[in-house]
Amino acid sequence: MQATRIGSFEINRIADYEGPFFAPNEFFPDFDPAVVEEHAALLGPKLLEPGTGKLMFSFHSFVVKTGRHTILIDACIGNDKERPSRPQFHHMKSPFIDDLARLGVKPEEVDYVMCTHLHWDHVGWNTRLQDGRWVPTFPNAKYVIAKKEHDHWQNFHASGADSPHALAYEDSVLPVVRTKQAVLVGDDYALDDGLWFESYPGHTPGNVVIHAKSGGERGVFIGDVLHHPLQCLKPAWSTFACTDGEGSRVSRTRLIETYADSDALILPAHFPAPTCGHIKSHGSAYRFDFRA
Ligand SMILES: [Zn+2]
Repeated sequence: MQATRIGSFEINRIADYEGPFFAPNEFFPDFDPAVVEEHAALLGPKLLEPGTGKLMFSFHSFVVKTGRHTILIDACIGNDKERPSRPQFHHMKSPFIDDLARLGVKPEEVDYVMCTHLHWDHVGWNTRLQDGRWVPTFPNAKYVIAKKEHDHWQNFHASGADSPHALAYEDSVLPVVRTKQAVLVGDDYALDDGLWFESYPGHTPGNVVIHAKSGGERGVFIGDVLHHPLQCLKPAWSTFACTDGEGSRVSRTRLIETYADSDALILPAHFPAPTCGHIKSHGSAYRFDFRA
């Protein structure tokens, strides 16, 4: 695994799963197969599964070593979670902790877990099952969560909704609130190291991106503002998983227009390996150029 660098920050990704996920017409309500046909060469088998046309996805966390702190950005899917509506990930077992060890990081050495949002596939490793109880995976970490995002999912959970997001609040967020490791912050939170939040609502109500700046270089951990490189070609395509499809469209368009043709490294939560890259103008829209 080769580390990515932003200035003096060393960044690695740990994936719980990489492979085909939803069919694009299930994932994007506005999906138009003509877009795939027109851009077949640009998309290719790395982004759409040959034969089925399913979206190729990665579910991963980023591990950022700033020199002062070790920070996990989003906590992926997690092991042993009850996710009956996502059978692929129900009671999953992934070697996440071993992969973390290969980066030279023990769970107790993680200083911060920073969350772009609280969907089930971004909070799983917040906790792990120990003697039948969900306990924080990272016993010394502060879990930094936008208060607006937390409060939304707290209310959603309290409403009794039958959803993997409600299950995730219960087994992966509530335990770190109970241990007082959760730090609920404004959506302009900044860590001295050179990482800070910016509000990009829509996919979820308190959704944030996490900016990184070091040594004159910059990057943006964009979470799920974009799920798949197809959305560079069609920024208007929100997903069935967006709380507010129109708000998500506005945020996605703003992000693409802000960073297109800039030097900012884009670090998405679901783009397949090598995951990181740059947004470029492409005809009347945009494309994603993966960094080799
Ligand atoms: Zn996600």
